[in-house]
Amino acid sequence: PWLAPAEAPDAEIGVSFEFFPPKTEKMADGLRQAVAGLAPLGPRFVSVTYGAGGSTRDRTLAVLREMVRDHAVPVAGHLTCVGASRAEVDAVARDYWQAGVRHIVALRGDAAEPGGRFVPHPEGYENAAALVAGLRRVAPFEISVAAYPETHPEARSPQADLDNLKAKIDAGACRAITQFFFEAESFLRFRDRAAAAGIDAEIVPGILPVGNVAQAYRFAEMCGARVPDWMRRLFDGLDAQPGARAMVTTAVAAALCAQLRAAGVSQFHFYTLNRADASLALCRLLGRRGGES
Ligand code: FAD
Repeated sequence: PWLAPAEAPDAEIGVSFEFFPPKTEKMADGLRQAVAGLAPLGPRFVSVTYGAGGSTRDRTLAVLREMVRDHAVPVAGHLTCVGASRAEVDAVARDYWQAGVRHIVALRGDAAEPGGRFVPHPEGYENAAALVAGLRRVAPFEISVAAYPETHPEARSPQADLDNLKAKIDAGACRAITQFFFEAESFLRFRDRAAAAGIDAEIVPGILPVGNVAQAYRFAEMCGARVPDWMRRLFDGLDAQPGARAMVTTAVAAALCAQLRAAGVSQFHFYTLNRADASLALCRLLGRRGGES
């Protein structure tokens, strides 16, 4: 039944799309095409990441400005507090506001060297919860934060991580977007634990349609997401057949979305990696067509 869009009209399914700021003019064209391909689906918002340690500050802002100018879709800017003073972070937020951005995905960010320990800037926000509180003082932004169904790698315990999520919501965030995961159960168990912990803000699953398997394994290792054995077996040896690999990719992500949908999930956030195809196909399969809601 989940393949029958008539039973899942646009009004029931909300989607959002995440992009990253391009490094070259060629990549910028690719991004424009991806956004133009996905904007007609009427996403709740599109978001642009903020490169490690704020390395893409100017590029993120430039992409946000272009999106606000070119698309009638709410635009969210990611913002991290690692390696910057509170005044510097607040200034970037003010730039976002002036560019017409009304939604921030507020994140702590990571240490510059991979695997390194996060150390707050001496005059900076010490974590994402403090950042959320600070942003609320800058302007009345809508604020989303990150959540980790399989627990953030630096958390003392799953419960401590959940307490931290609650602190971020209590500080003024209205939504959590999750790190990617490959098994519906991970998300559904987390959703139950969050509800039991009194978190009533919406928790939106982050869906990564694995395009490049090696890259996905690398990401997963860095952020503590579990790659199930069945998935490794599924993709093992498929690198020489990129066409078939892409189909398997979409089938795996579609099955995940279908399981989540069957469990009552109605909001989905897609890590697009600046490509429209897979996310567009997944939205279609979920019944999201755009132009109808
Ligand atoms: P926090 O919520 O501050 O948590 C970090 C860790 O510290 C957790 O283990 C938490 O449990 C612990 N902690 C926090 N406060 C306390 C406390 N008071 N006591 C004890 N423990 C505490 N990174 C980027 O650089 N740019 C991006 O654009 C970006 N976008 C992202 C989008 C999404 C949807 C997600 C899920 C992640 C994104 N990230 C991005 C990655 C993110 O910056 C890292 O995962 C980072 O390590 C943690 O950020 P956070 O906001 O979750 O931190």
